[in-house]
Amino acid sequence: MGTASADIGVIGLGTMGANLALNIAEKGFTVAVYNRTVAKAHALKSDNPELAENILPAGTLQDFVASLKSPRRVLFMVPAGPLVDEEMEKVSPLLSDGDVMIDAGNADFNDTVRRSKAVEGTGLHFVGMGVSGGELGARHGPSIMVGGAEHTYGTLQPILEKIAAQYKGEPCVAWLGPDGAGHFVKTLHNGIEYADMQMIAEIYGIMRDGLGLQPDRMADIFRDWNTRGLASYLIEITAVNLAEKDPDTDKPMVELITDEAGQKGTGRWAVIEAQKLGVGATTIEAAVSARGVSARRDERIAAARVYEAVKTEPAEFAGDEDGLAELEAALETAKIIAYAQGYATMASASEEFAWNLPLGTIAEIWRAGCIIRSHFLDDIAKAYEGGAKVVNLLQSPAFVGRVSKGQAALRKVVASASLAGIPVPALSAALAYFDDYRRPRGTTNLTQAQRDLFGGHTFHRLDKDGVFHHHWPAV
Ligand code: NDP
Repeated sequence: MGTASADIGVIGLGTMGANLALNIAEKGFTVAVYNRTVAKAHALKSDNPELAENILPAGTLQDFVASLKSPRRVLFMVPAGPLVDEEMEKVSPLLSDGDVMIDAGNADFNDTVRRSKAVEGTGLHFVGMGVSGGELGARHGPSIMVGGAEHTYGTLQPILEKIAAQYKGEPCVAWLGPDGAGHFVKTLHNGIEYADMQMIAEIYGIMRDGLGLQPDRMADIFRDWNTRGLASYLIEITAVNLAEKDPDTDKPMVELITDEAGQKGTGRWAVIEAQKLGVGATTIEAAVSARGVSARRDERIAAARVYEAVKTEPAEFAGDEDGLAELEAALETAKIIAYAQGYATMASASEEFAWNLPLGTIAEIWRAGCIIRSHFLDDIAKAYEGGAKVVNLLQSPAFVGRVSKGQAALRKVVASASLAGIPVPALSAALAYFDDYRRPRGTTNLTQAQRDLFGGHTFHRLDKDGVFHHHWPAV
């Protein structure tokens, strides 16, 4: 191994690590690469001759570390969980004061907080960094969410700003706060992504089962929607998915794919954290649960037989311009509500963990590179402009008009789908949240009465100050 000349090192050359390393090399930095299966490190260099001079494969961790310039920057891109701890344990004895370890996988932010604490006082630094955009994003420009000490971010910033996606010339990377802030935001990004995808799938379900449209026609509709308020990467790829034909059968590809979706954990974490914080992220929750139900395909098929006799109303959707405009408005409105829930969860975490999350900046760095990228995020960024205090996006002047106008369509779509027996769990969760959220007099007064009766939990009164317990009749 020669002298220490690499600007950064990547450990783990799977889908994400290899592409991120190529991205780094392409931007003119020298990147050292190490992988459990050593041959992959050498292959990365030989398979990419145009970038070969910027790629330094290492056969051992010692050589890998020795090839890094000081302060050394070591980025781990391995599956989240105990493996990250194992890899850190192997590398940290080889590092020196001021060196930085970066976990760029999809870590549980609680692990990131623990790892940040563990390196405190060792002279080493730890950064938890969420990377979104999948394989192509990693290769050509992801959205990057950084958590750790701000001064440590400074040592990474020149590289990260170059490799990140650019939105109108602005790099989609930012330091978001200490320890777990970056991975928390990435978790919520994925939760919102689940909601976006589930709601699109529900609208597809209405088009298929309520309107009887063919995928080709649906592709045209989504392509059209992609020119307006819903314009986003996910709507764009939906049109591509729907238009695609299977080369073997010439049938629409989407109709040949089994209706069972998996998940890797981040969506579930988003829901768990929202629950822990007491925030209602019901649309995200519905989306995560819907994947769980989808995965139980045999059970669903059996249940369909059991309930064959259940009659539903004929679908009341119109396939004309007005009917399609209604579906579009319903999806747009529910999307605003889902994002409001995601942002409310981040706002609550920011307070709970004293992170001071820059919510507007988060919208800005999601505008390109990541899976939920869209112009709509620019509207969210604007809602936070000038440090505007936003209690919940549903109360932001930027969205009140849009939701007020769109809610009627959402209501009609959810009602028609329910009567026709077409499941819309995420869309209906969004509508229920909206109605619940804007209801001045709720119904938990009864819940409080019950809790006081069976558990002496006490309650507040509307007409008097103080805490009260009532002697309810014995039951
Ligand atoms: P891959 O499965 O493609 O790659 C995993 C890497 O980890 C490989 O280099 C593999 O080495 C190495 N590895 C696996 N097990 C071990 C082990 N026991 N000891 C040492 N090294 C090991 O994963 P991805 O690149 O898809 O994902 C990496 C991280 O990025 C994950 O946290 C993932 O959640 C996250 N992520 C993934 C995205 C995606 O779209 N795929 C998007 C955003 C984040 P070897 O080659 O020897 O098998």
